Amino acid sequence: MPSPTRTPFVGGNWKMNTDRAGAVELATGVAEQLKGLDGVEAAVFVPFPYLLPVGEALAGSGVKLGAQDVSDQPNGAFTGEVSTDMLKDCGVTVVLAGHSERRHVIGECDELVNQKVKASLKAGLEVILCVGEKLEEREAGETDVVNERQIKAGLTGVSAQDMARVTIAYEPVWAIGTGKTATPDDAQSAHAAIRALLIELYDEGVANATRIQYGGSMKPGNAADLVAQRDIDGGLIGGASLKAADFAQIVQAAAGDPAHA
Ligand code: PEP
Repeated sequence: MPSPTRTPFVGGNWKMNTDRAGAVELATGVAEQLKGLDGVEAAVFVPFPYLLPVGEALAGSGVKLGAQDVSDQPNGAFTGEVSTDMLKDCGVTVVLAGHSERRHVIGECDELVNQKVKASLKAGLEVILCVGEKLEEREAGETDVVNERQIKAGLTGVSAQDMARVTIAYEPVWAIGTGKTATPDDAQSAHAAIRALLIELYDEGVANATRIQYGGSMKPGNAADLVAQRDIDGGLIGGASLKAADFAQIVQAAAGDPAHA
């Protein structure tokens, strides 16, 4: 079971999927299925154009409204970018920073990810900092080195106090959207190394309080085994978050609900 000092946190990353009606239907289903759930936090990361109607569909449910990306700049001539204030205006309380698709498909570097983390925290938002190794890095035995580099860079200038609003998502790139999942033991080993790094960067209090999600083809069939690991405090879910019932089952597994776990 996850440590009782950390409330598990499960995010659903819808990526560039859904349309307006589908997004509202999905959010309505998530809100209904998670009604009254205790001992876990959940968020959905919604395409920008659907934030407002999804926020309405989630109202009163306790499911957080999240954005998949954010600008590091407050306002101005940055065509296509979306600022922290715009997101907050739409009801967003949590953002992703450094998702692997933004790092490796769009080309975001560690420094930009760090600027986004800091801008979001300064604006009062919560942040999920995503990290993880590519297949060739894993095969070269560099999993912990890559996580360390991305976390050190991503958290540069982030205070111990602000860490209360930071979650880390360990997402091995080779497992994202591929149907391949890290074994619970391998994932636990990476999570334990990340927690040890947080002791080095901050202290034991911060390290013990920080949620570390696993991401990479997590689904109802494997979620319980993954979240049962000591240092795995929930998940960041892509494909399986597009079905309300599947996402709800994963959230319930993270809550330790014996009827579903
Ligand atoms: C993700 O997008 O963060 C993710 C983990 O995707 P999937 O669950 O589809 O692997």
